[in-house]
Amino acid sequence: MVPDGRSGCAGTVLSVPQCSIGGVVDLDTPLKTLLGARAATLLADGLELRSVGDLLDHLPRRYHERGELTDLADLVVGESATVAARVEKIERRPIRSGRSMLRVTVTDGRQLLTLTFFNQTWRERDLRRGVTALFAGKVEEYRGRVQLTNPEVHLLEADPGELGGSGAGGGGAAGAAQVDVLAGAQGRDGTGDGAGAEFVNALVPIYPAAAKVPSWTVARCVRLALDSLDPVTDPLPADLRHRRRLPGLLEAYRKVHQPANRGDVRLGRTRLSWDEALVLQVALARRRREVEALATVARPGRPDGLLAAFEASLPFDLTAGQRAVGEAITADLGRPVPMHRLLQGEVGSGKTVVALRAMLAVVDSGGQAVLLAPTETLAAQHERSLREMLGDLARAGELDGAERATRITLVTGSLGARARREALTAIADGSAGLVVGTHALLQEDVQFADLGLVIVDEQHRFGVEQRDALRARGRRPPHLLVMTATPIPRTVAMTVFGDLEVSELTELPSGRSPVATFVVPAMVTSWTDRMWGRIRDEVAAGRQAYVVCPRIGGAGPEDGADTEDRPTATVTEVLPQLVGGELAGLRVECLHGRLPSAQRETVMNRFAAGELDVLVATTVIEVGVNVQNATVMVVLDADRFGVSQLHQLRGRVGRGEAAGWCLLHTAADQDTPAWQRLSAVAATTDGAELARLDLVQRREGDVLGAAQSGGRRSLRLLALLRDEKLIREARTEAFQLVDADPALTDHPALRRLLATVLDEESAAFLEKG
Ligand code: ADP
Ligand code: MG
Repeated sequence: MVPDGRSGCAGTVLSVPQCSIGGVVDLDTPLKTLLGARAATLLADGLELRSVGDLLDHLPRRYHERGELTDLADLVVGESATVAARVEKIERRPIRSGRSMLRVTVTDGRQLLTLTFFNQTWRERDLRRGVTALFAGKVEEYRGRVQLTNPEVHLLEADPGELGGSGAGGGGAAGAAQVDVLAGAQGRDGTGDGAGAEFVNALVPIYPAAAKVPSWTVARCVRLALDSLDPVTDPLPADLRHRRRLPGLLEAYRKVHQPANRGDVRLGRTRLSWDEALVLQVALARRRREVEALATVARPGRPDGLLAAFEASLPFDLTAGQRAVGEAITADLGRPVPMHRLLQGEVGSGKTVVALRAMLAVVDSGGQAVLLAPTETLAAQHERSLREMLGDLARAGELDGAERATRITLVTGSLGARARREALTAIADGSAGLVVGTHALLQEDVQFADLGLVIVDEQHRFGVEQRDALRARGRRPPHLLVMTATPIPRTVAMTVFGDLEVSELTELPSGRSPVATFVVPAMVTSWTDRMWGRIRDEVAAGRQAYVVCPRIGGAGPEDGADTEDRPTATVTEVLPQLVGGELAGLRVECLHGRLPSAQRETVMNRFAAGELDVLVATTVIEVGVNVQNATVMVVLDADRFGVSQLHQLRGRVGRGEAAGWCLLHTAADQDTPAWQRLSAVAATTDGAELARLDLVQRREGDVLGAAQSGGRRSLRLLALLRDEKLIREARTEAFQLVDADPALTDHPALRRLLATVLDEESAAFLEKG
C-alpha cells in the first residue's frame, strides 16, 4: 500500500537520527547514515541521491507560496506534477468486489481537478471540504477530464488534531510503520507538529520528485540534513565571498531549501552558481596555463615564402577583420608555445583565407599543416578550394608547379588503397605541406614528418579531450586553430572554450549580399506556389538553388523516425515530386549522407560547376558548402530545425553579389512557438542574437548537442550558461586565483571540489559531443 510505504519512509526519516548518527555529518556522509536504510534506498533509487551533498544539491524546481494555489490550467497530461489545491467535494463510490473508490474534486479557485483514490477511504478524514493540500502524481486524462490517480497527499493546512505521521499522509492506515512515524515525529519535535513541520516558511519548496519520493519527503530529508550538518569548509575563498557579498555554503543551502522570501532564493542560488562557475573556470584557467607552459616549435614564416606569393596573387583585399585575426595568429605561431585559438566568424566571413594564410606560414617555416573538416564532402571541398586559391603554388613537382610550391594531400576514408598509401607517404616524408581530411585523420596512425599546425573547421564541438589527444601527438604539440561559424553564445565560449583565445570575424567581405528570409505557411498554397516559382525564376536567371529536408527518408538506421504526428519532408520523397511537378524541366539531384562518398562528391562537383540547377539535400550542406551562384534556399518543415541551424543553413546562399533568398516552409500555425522561432530567424541576421535565443529555448539535454545528461549538475550548469556576467566575473577570479596559487594549496576545499566535480560531471560535459 502506497501510504504505508511512504509513512514508513517518513517515519524512518524522523526517527533515526536520535539513535544512529555518531561522528561528524558532512557533505560526504552517506544518506544511509543520516536517514536510515529505507529512506536512503528510496532517495538513491528514485533520485540518485546518495550523499548529504547530493541531497542538498537537489534544488527545488519552484516554490509554492503559502495560501496560493497552483494554476491547474498549466497541468500537462503525462507529466508528474505537484499541485497545491483546495478540496471542493468528496464522493465515495462502491466498486466491484466490495472495494471502494474515493473521488475528490479539488480546485485552484478557477479550474477543477479530479483525484481518484482506490481503497483509501480513510482519506475522507483528512480531505474535508476547504482543506488545502499538496497533491503529487502523474497527470492523466480520463474521459476528457484531467485527473490524478492515487496521488500522494500532503496537508498544508491541517487541523491541530491531524498531526505527526497521520498528517503526513499515513492517515488511518494500519501498519507497523505507523508507530515509527509517530514516535519519530514526537520524539523529534516534541510537539509533533506534523503536517507543515518541514515547511516553516512562507515559501514551500517543490522538488523534482520521483514516484515514491514526493516533494515533501525530500523537504523533510533536507531539513534533517541541514539540522544535522556540522560546519563545512567552504570551497569559495572567504575573501571572494566577502568582496562579492555571497553567503557561506550552508547558509546558501538554507536559503534555497528553506527560503523566507524570494530574495533568499536568489541569493542562495547565486552563491551556488558561483561554486559551479568558479570550479569550471579554475579548471580552464589551469588548463590554459598548462598549455602555455608547453614548449613547441615557433613557426614565424619568412618574408619571401609561399605566403608572400599567395598574398600577391589574392584577387581581393582582405577585410580589416581578416587582417587583424591574421596578425594575432602570426604572432601566436611565432612563439615557441602552442597556439590555442578559436576563430568565430559568420558564415561567409572568409575564415578559409585566414586558415590558409596560417597554414602557409607554417609551411614557410618548414612544417606541415593539416585542415580537418567534419565530413568527407567538406574535406573534399576544402581541398578543391585550397587548390584553386593556391594555383601553381600547390603543384610542387608538377611541370607547371611554382618554384617554392608545396603539395596538398587529401586523406579521407574513401580513398583507394593505393591512393591512400601514396598520400600517407607524402605526409610522412614531408613532401605534402598541406594535408586536408576528416577528423578520422587524427585518430588514425598517420605519421607526419613535422606537424606544425592543426586547423579544425566548423567543429565547435571539438572538445577538450580531442585537444588533449592532439597535443599528445608528435614530439612537440602542434599549434591549434579551431574555426566555427556556428554562433556560440559568449557564455558557452567562456566555458567550453574557456581555455582558448577567441578571435572573431565580425564583418562580411564587401560584395556579399544579405539573405532575405521569409516564413512560408504550408497551408497557404499560393505562397507555396510562389516559393517554387522563386526557384524557377532564379534558375531562369542562371542561378542555383537548394531545397533542404529534415530527413533522408527510406528506412536508414541513422534516419530516425518521425517524432511527431505529421510526417516530415524527406529527400527521397521530395526529389521525385519536384522533378515530376514544381521543378519539372530543371536539373535536380539529391545529396545526403547515405550516398556513397564518390557519388556525393560527383554531385557536389557538378553543382559547383553549374551542371545542376537544384540540390535537394539534408543538412549535409549546413556547413562550409560554398557555391557562390546559389541564391535561393527552400527549407521544408523548417520548424524541425533549430534556430542556429537555420541560420547556418541560409549562410549557403547569397555568397556572391546576387541577393540571397531563404524561404522557411512550415506547417506550423502562426501562434505557435515553432512559428515564432522561424519568425525570429527571418527577422534578424545577427547570429549571436539567434544563438542566445537558441540557448534560452532549448531544453536541458539539448545544449551543445547530446552533451547534457540532465543530471543535477548539468541542470544547474544550464542555468549558469544563461548568466554571462557571473561567468565573466568567475573567470576573472579564477585566473587571479590560479596565477597566485597554481596548485590551490591555500584552497583545499576548492581543490577538492574541483577534483570531484570536474572528474565526474563537468568533465563529461566538456568533452562529450
Ligand atoms: P567561411 O567563413 O564561411 O568559411 P569562406 O572562407 O568560405 O567563408 O569565404 C566565403 C567566400 O568569400 C569565399 O568565396 C571567399 O573566397 C570569399 N572571400 C573571403 N575573403 C574575402 C574578401 N576579403 N573579399 C572578398 N571575398 C572574400
Ligand atoms: Mg568555411
